[in-house]
Amino acid sequence: MTSTQGTAGSERERKVLDSVPTGLLIGGEWRPATSGATTKVEDPATGEVLAEVADAGPEDGMAALAAAHEAQAGFAAMAPRERGEILRRAYEAMMANVDDLALVMTLEMGKPLAESKGEVAYAAEFFRWFSEEAVRIDGGYATAPNGQSRFLVMKQPVGPCVFITPWNFPLAMGTRKIGPAIAAGCTVVIKPAHQTPLSMLALGQILLDAGLPAGVLNIINATDAGGVMEPIIRDGRARKLSFTGSTGVGKTLLRQASEKVLRTSMELGGNASFIVFDDADLEKAVAGAMVAKMRNMGEACTAANRFYVHRSISGAFAEKLAEKMGALVVGRGTEDGVQVGPLVDAKGRDKVVDLVGDALAHGATVKVGGAPVDGPGYFYTPTVLTDVPKESRLNHEEIFGPVAPISVFDTEAEALAAANATEFGLVNYVFTESLDRALRVAEKLESGMIGLNTGLVSNPAAPFGGVKESGLGREGGSVGIDEFLETKYVAIGIAI
Ligand code: NAP
Repeated sequence: MTSTQGTAGSERERKVLDSVPTGLLIGGEWRPATSGATTKVEDPATGEVLAEVADAGPEDGMAALAAAHEAQAGFAAMAPRERGEILRRAYEAMMANVDDLALVMTLEMGKPLAESKGEVAYAAEFFRWFSEEAVRIDGGYATAPNGQSRFLVMKQPVGPCVFITPWNFPLAMGTRKIGPAIAAGCTVVIKPAHQTPLSMLALGQILLDAGLPAGVLNIINATDAGGVMEPIIRDGRARKLSFTGSTGVGKTLLRQASEKVLRTSMELGGNASFIVFDDADLEKAVAGAMVAKMRNMGEACTAANRFYVHRSISGAFAEKLAEKMGALVVGRGTEDGVQVGPLVDAKGRDKVVDLVGDALAHGATVKVGGAPVDGPGYFYTPTVLTDVPKESRLNHEEIFGPVAPISVFDTEAEALAAANATEFGLVNYVFTESLDRALRVAEKLESGMIGLNTGLVSNPAAPFGGVKESGLGREGGSVGIDEFLETKYVAIGIAI
């Protein structure tokens, strides 16, 4: 590992940060919190303060909900083509501003600039995809089985939506919800994570500039997340709650949403297995492992959390993976050549320290890495652990860091049982050159998504989501817009 920790504050960084709005976006206006409260945004690479943004209180939350509610009927009546064109313009603007948006993201979240640029493009792609879906909302017309009546089926916007998003993909987790909501004709109140509000605030201005009517998108940054969001969810004027974050918070929100029976989409935690069979292409598997593990420094719900490798190739796999992980350059994401940024905060870094300590206490071996990096910022060394026993906590909890724990297996049944031995079910990765085995295993794995001979599943044109305690509903793909549409059926009496 090479480390290139740097310091914050180049002129360009300051200029770009100063261009980002710092208020709450309510009813088309940027405004301070009613209480005047602000909160600081920190650079996780240095611990330095980047910006101060308005910190909403419950009264601001209710104002945002009122604005979304008021704008709903008018927005639902806007022509689908017009809604699509707003999204298309926002897509173009994001791509035209990719460098600045990526810099803001790297500064507040830590990931290397190249990864931030990748996320901006991925996030923008949801707008392009849903700009195309906006004009394809259809319905149906059918004859009743007895021929005596007709059925008309129409799709209508579900109504005002509440979104709560995490810090790990500060733009994409937002556009994955905002894109289909706008396409379907729904208004929005969104709360980004307190660590990374700036990316969402910058996006808000882009959407306003793209012609989004006042009140359609309302952004409230709030450090008292529960205190501000719970009254909005329980109010009943919002008709849909879409959350991306941890399973624990998701369960709390589901209970709150049940009071007024809101439609819900939940993109929750993961515990992905990465299975390498003895007939796998080893080079492909190692390359896939680097992506599945190291995208976003391991801070992804889709991150490979547990590696199960067939005994006959486990030594070679661990060797090659450790070589690649050990060669990664760790440092402030703004610096040239850096491949691994800091973790998002002290809590995230300390969790990785605890999980690795627990695995070592249970008898795991460090192949490479195994420690945090001294100095400012929340860096952790890319790590490979071998001989990781089943009972280690990192087999059961999301690591959310650059640590690859490897265990061996002997039979396909054993690998499947290990992969499914979790309450989560977001994604699993499988490496094999056998078509029979690939399909057999894909059918038996309990997850919403499978990466087959690839370490990356995320794609705006594909249905993303989990089963079991990883969530409800799907984002992206042709089903993504359905989450924002109600089905209304009209029974028609007809004289033939
Ligand atoms: P988190 O702690 O659950 O926070 C997610 C969001 O929920 C943040 O905006 C947070 O606000 C807010 N929040 C926390 N408590 C709340 C409450 N009582 N009421 C309303 N909002 C509340 O998760 P995280 O640590 O930010 O993100 C990591 C988790 O997200 C991991 O479990 C990861 O797997 C999951 N994730 C899932 C997907 C997916 O698509 N399945 C994608 C990305 C991440 P504050 O932080 O500002 O308090």
